Amino acid sequence: MTTVIENDSQKSGRLEVGTPLLEVKDLHVEFHTRDGVAKAVNGVNYSVAAGETLAVLGESGSGKSVTAQTIMGILDMPPGKVTQGEILYRGQDMLKMSNEERRKIRGRKIAMIFQDALSALNPVLSVGYQLGEMFRVHQGVSKAEAKAKAIELMDRVRIPAAKERVNDYPHQFSGGMRQRIMIAMALSLQPDLIIADEPTTALDVTVQAQVMDLLAELQAEYNMGLILILDQKGQELYAIKGLPPNLLKVPAGCAFNPRCDVATDLCRTEIPALHHVTDKDGKELTGRRSACHLWKETLHG
Ligand code: ADP
Ligand code: MG
Repeated sequence: MTTVIENDSQKSGRLEVGTPLLEVKDLHVEFHTRDGVAKAVNGVNYSVAAGETLAVLGESGSGKSVTAQTIMGILDMPPGKVTQGEILYRGQDMLKMSNEERRKIRGRKIAMIFQDALSALNPVLSVGYQLGEMFRVHQGVSKAEAKAKAIELMDRVRIPAAKERVNDYPHQFSGGMRQRIMIAMALSLQPDLIIADEPTTALDVTVQAQVMDLLAELQAEYNMGLILILDQKGQELYAIKGLPPNLLKVPAGCAFNPRCDVATDLCRTEIPALHHVTDKDGKELTGRRSACHLWKETLHG
């Protein structure tokens, strides 16, 4: 089975499943505003490998998008500022690269899908033109070739009657179809990694499921890494009550302590480290970590 995957990935130029792609280490991002310094991202650690999906969960305002924007290099600086940490793409710190080196990675090796396709697409250019532009700019192909490739991509993301619709404008497509066009655009340069920031939030539930299925299918086919920031609609996860803290005045200790029913003095004074999580018998639960002083009590009762 492994051999088949390797052969496939060699043939298509895709990476082997499990190849480490991106590692975010102890990332800190803050915003310098008139009212003070807002600490938006405080020591984020995550990593994703080829063929792997990393789901990023967290309440609104917890820094999910800012982290993604920092990885993509589209964070406004100023007011944004990375004060600490590393963003390693295949072992190399993107924060230390020249602009040119970074450009080769962002968009080509790492692509992003945004929540709002309508504002990400240019309203006065046909979708075929915008898809084809990726190939014209990055690969220098002719106009006719670019159009053919655009149609191929539209087919790939299962937009019905792609050939007839290639000259249509973004507003002529439904929300779900527009999001497919965004996926097509992200795929156009065959990235290793896709970051999808709440890609289906604006869609109704049935269409959400279709778009997510498509994304998962393409990810598996191309062995891509996927960072999926999940909106929490329909998720059966426990959410802590109350509002996220004011980032200009983050509480001492754990940021959740004023809203937590079980917080102790330790929680009010010391920022919890990110712990490896174990089951009741002390066996490590791979891929699960917790930044809670009381993770053992919470997990094992
Ligand atoms: P989410 O987890 O909901 O995606 P964000 O990453 O968008 O949260 O935002 C994290 C925090 O950073 C929020 O408090 C937000 O107000 C703040 N923030 C984001 N962008 C800016 C900006 N350009 N200027 C000032 N503050 C910002
Ligand atoms: Mg967000």
